[in-house]
Amino acid sequence: MNAPSPQPPAVRTTCPYCGVGCGLLARPDGYGGASIAGDPDHPANFGRICSKGSALGETLALGERLLHPLLRQSDGSLAHVSWPDALDAVADGFKRIIAREGPNAVAFYLSGQLLTEDYYVANKLMKGFIGSANVDTNSRLCMASSVAGHRRAFGADTVPGTYEDLDAADLIVLVGSNAAWCHPVLFQRMVKNKRERGATIVVIDPRRTATAEDADLHLPIAPGMDSALFCGLLVHLADRCALDYRYIDAHTAGFENTLARARAIAPDLAATAKATRLPQADVARFFDLFRMIPNAVTCFSQGVNQSAQGTDKVNAIINCHLATGRIGRRGQGPFSLTGQPNAMGGREVGGLANQLAAHMAFAPADIDRVRRFWRAPRMATREGLKAVQMFEAIARGRIKALWVMATNPAVSLPRASHVRAALAKLELFVASENVAANDTVNAGAHILLPAAAWGEKDGTVTNSERRISRQRPFLPAPGEARPDWWIVTQVARRMGFVDAFAYESAADVFREHAALSAFENDGKRDLDLGALAQLSDSAFDALDPVQWPLCRGEQVQMRDHQRRFFSDGGFYTPDRKARFVAPERPAPREATSKAFPFRLNTGRVRDQWHTMTRSGLSPRLGAHLPEPFVEVHPADAEAAALLDGGFARVTTRYGSCVLKVVVSDGQRRGSIFAPIHWSDTTASSARICDLVMGDTDRYSGQPEAKATPAAITPVAFAFRGFALTRAPVAVPLGTWWARVAVAKALGTLLATDDGPETWRERARQMFGDGAELAEYNDARHGIYRAAAFAAGGLAGALFIGPAAAAPQWDAVKPLFAADTLPEEARRVLLSGRSADGLAGAGPVVCACFGVGLATIRDAIQSGAARSVEAIGTALRAGTNCGSCLPELKRIVADAGVAVVPTAPASQRAITPPAPRRTRDPAAIT
Ligand code: SF4
Repeated sequence: MNAPSPQPPAVRTTCPYCGVGCGLLARPDGYGGASIAGDPDHPANFGRICSKGSALGETLALGERLLHPLLRQSDGSLAHVSWPDALDAVADGFKRIIAREGPNAVAFYLSGQLLTEDYYVANKLMKGFIGSANVDTNSRLCMASSVAGHRRAFGADTVPGTYEDLDAADLIVLVGSNAAWCHPVLFQRMVKNKRERGATIVVIDPRRTATAEDADLHLPIAPGMDSALFCGLLVHLADRCALDYRYIDAHTAGFENTLARARAIAPDLAATAKATRLPQADVARFFDLFRMIPNAVTCFSQGVNQSAQGTDKVNAIINCHLATGRIGRRGQGPFSLTGQPNAMGGREVGGLANQLAAHMAFAPADIDRVRRFWRAPRMATREGLKAVQMFEAIARGRIKALWVMATNPAVSLPRASHVRAALAKLELFVASENVAANDTVNAGAHILLPAAAWGEKDGTVTNSERRISRQRPFLPAPGEARPDWWIVTQVARRMGFVDAFAYESAADVFREHAALSAFENDGKRDLDLGALAQLSDSAFDALDPVQWPLCRGEQVQMRDHQRRFFSDGGFYTPDRKARFVAPERPAPREATSKAFPFRLNTGRVRDQWHTMTRSGLSPRLGAHLPEPFVEVHPADAEAAALLDGGFARVTTRYGSCVLKVVVSDGQRRGSIFAPIHWSDTTASSARICDLVMGDTDRYSGQPEAKATPAAITPVAFAFRGFALTRAPVAVPLGTWWARVAVAKALGTLLATDDGPETWRERARQMFGDGAELAEYNDARHGIYRAAAFAAGGLAGALFIGPAAAAPQWDAVKPLFAADTLPEEARRVLLSGRSADGLAGAGPVVCACFGVGLATIRDAIQSGAARSVEAIGTALRAGTNCGSCLPELKRIVADAGVAVVPTAPASQRAITPPAPRRTRDPAAIT
């Protein structure tokens, strides 16, 4: 008898989603998959992970992957070519256009999903060897305003604090940050501090988000008015003699002018309340909390950054911390929470068009230093075009060649259709991608390069607290996929830069990056990784998470008090003093009007990531909020005749989308919210960034994604339903649809004016002649249901019914997981009920155990389970990853029974709370 094969060792790696940078243990299963758990030894998460991280194992399949280099042919088709041919085509194309038009006619558009090593070589090629700084990144959409704010205040893009400050703070202020959904593990750390140490949490956000649900004070501020609030706070602190004049005098400049400007914007409490449209008592409470609690950390994120005045907002926050000397001390400081897994690594290597490598700027001395270090023949001497301007230049024909790496600008940039049209004008459009199809690739890429994905890549990422962690491969790269750093290196060599791009490994690149950061540094720049510049390959392989600043010599990690910046000044300005920055008068630039009376706010949902090319593959994540939606305040919904669970068209000057309506009293009146995740690949009409204005912050170039004037009107469909198929299917023109990952099937939710007869015809096309079709057709009541069987199993299902009584798919979805279908299940399938005779379980609440809303409500009403804990015991819901616990609490609360707090069985998986809604969006399917 063969001995059982030993379990493969777990590989320590890092989550590819948000900027928290959680350490993971990935254990390959030997069949191309892996189990994922939190790394208990990683200081960012100590073993905890959120729903996205815990579902990573469901995203490793290869069905959607780009596996071979492809070259577009003259007839428009894509042909498989060898790597040498593809690389030659890229290098020759760039060389040809540069020779003809100059270096500024080409550009790279990178991504916060790239590893630091990928980022480094791409920047080196463009800024040092091609001779242009037209290399920007999707991080421009994420935290460019924080970078600009840091640089204006500190003289460098320095995050002063650490995550431990969130454990030590007595007051945590979250501004424009739905951390409960977007930085879940970090938010749970804050909640733990509140629970165990009594920390106070204040949330400043126009929406009552999941984060606000756990706050002691929520300030639903008018969109765009954050600077006014923090100007008012600065005035309040000055008037109450709560400033640290010792720190101001010793370590800062520009205070008097900034205070005068703050007084002009928000002279007193009443004026601040009026400008921010907040209750004066709430503003006063916040000001008093900030004044009286020294250990205060102010976290800010996309709600601050994604603004045409985002840099001013960042500086208005920093001003208050400088004025009180609350910076760089344990439990004190301003704290930018980065959205992307490696936004910080990108910043370290100069991934933005207005930065040079190693936190250097386009100042003559820095340009010269980098030139000498790289021995660069054509060093860029001025800043390049930032993302929005870059695509404008493409649209105008000024940029003729573009290389997009690991991002999807045809979905994520403002005025996304304009971006897509611009891409079609390029003479050379190269895309390095994981997936074979997305909106950007589909815009007509000429050369597609298969890039290695998470789980296959080797290198480093840096999280929001300056901690560098290794991403280690635990799966072989499939097909001909290659790491991004390798691809860029190969192109650079073909362009003639063989010696400068002699890297043979990610470790080679990292060592050079570390050496450049230390080159002629001597404490003049914040980033100095010199202690890591001589790492051997094996030491790089074994590198533990390491936070900078670093010591030189044997001990690379600083002692606790040395791990923060600026407690004793030492800023990176010429006089080593910080700058107070007087903000301009705040107001969103584009005003609302009679035609567009609402402010469209965009953002993320808990269980999806960016344009869903990875998270959208997980059935577990897809079960939570499966459809694109728009949240509307109940009074606005009533005035606009919008029905909760119905549909609405959201229109701006730039485009329109049709979305499900979620009426929510967490939404501010006059504002509507829609998530950013859906694309033309995953839904019929939900590419929300197409509606977003292209207005950008004048300092950071970051687009205003939170306040586009918009209109909303009801849309009615006569019928609704779903298709469950083994492969993608086409639906009739005019059908509203949204694609959802389902175990072993593809789910498509439908809304349509086409009646049963049309769908009956369509079913025959969908399932083909080979399938055995079982049908139920009730034309009088507008019902059509079909199930297709092949080889003893279920091949497809199509259910259409009147919109008012839309068929539910909860009982049908699980049947696709079985290879053969039991006779009883087959017999009752078209009823939409499960074979055990129970009524449909309703929309899934607990994805781990497939427990539906109706089942939970039945248990509560029958008395079988009257608390969250009892529901866990009776139904197992909420006892695994814990993702559904907040919803369970709400369901119990709605049913009018006491909530008994509980904790998930797995201490490693934590889940943020969901916001209270008038109606649960999970229930609208
Ligand atoms: S909080 Fe979640 S998404 Fe963010 S890094 Fe951790 S596991 Fe990944």
